[in-house]
Amino acid sequence: MKDMIIETIKNLFSKPATVKYPFEPSPTPPNYRGLIVYKEELCIFCTKCELVCPPGAIRFTYEEDGSKKYHYNPYLCIYCGECVRACPKPGCLTQVEDVAPPATKETKPNWDAVEVEAEESKKRWLAARKKKKS
Ligand code: SF4
Ligand code: SF4
Repeated sequence: MKDMIIETIKNLFSKPATVKYPFEPSPTPPNYRGLIVYKEELCIFCTKCELVCPPGAIRFTYEEDGSKKYHYNPYLCIYCGECVRACPKPGCLTQVEDVAPPATKETKPNWDAVEVEAEESKKRWLAARKKKKS
């Protein structure tokens, strides 16, 4: 009984073990893996990151001249880090501790449109390349 009273008094004056989420951000555990950051200036556009990404959160769209544009969906990303491991250019893809911001109309990419364009633009580029060769 005495121990219980001491513990109760201690708890009355100690800091709560929980945080007031969402008013306070939850602390991230050490070595937490979060969003992917891309540096276009280091990219050689090999598309390895797109190939290894399990949920398809990285897609490239193609221009007629063969140049590619990187697209990333932070809401599909499962933070596995496979793209970082597969990338042959150190520092081109890095994983930070931040998580995706709340999904709103402004922050959420129109991923269906990106996926369609990635497929279609690749087909167009391949067809143009074939035509050039023949
Ligand atoms: S961390 Fe994983 S899920 Fe996220 S983009 Fe890279 S490969 Fe895809
Ligand atoms: S794997 Fe790296 S270098 Fe290759 S396309 Fe992706 S980001 Fe660029």
